[in-house]
Amino acid sequence: MKTEKEKHCGNCSYHDVYHYPDKIFCVYRYLKGENPIVDTLWHCENWTPETQPCFCVQDAKNNAKNIQENPKHSSTA
Ligand code: SF4
Ligand SMILES: [Zn+2]
Repeated sequence: MKTEKEKHCGNCSYHDVYHYPDKIFCVYRYLKGENPIVDTLWHCENWTPETQPCFCVQDAKNNAKNIQENPKHSSTA
């Protein structure tokens, strides 16, 4: 089974849904008093593999690709 092994907030155990799929809510940063809203494809040194895989990273990548290929249409949700 081929799943994401790259480190992204979107596959970190601390992430939660915020603005799907490009932004996530980081519980870790929230508890530290930092801005909890970060890019799904970002990651920090506290990255921890999630135990329940989801589609955030995959969908964020597809989303970013679409915006790149169709910049003029990126504002249409
Ligand atoms: S900011 Fe760090 S701890 Fe928070 S979700 Fe992203 S990788 Fe995980
Ligand atoms: Zn997710």
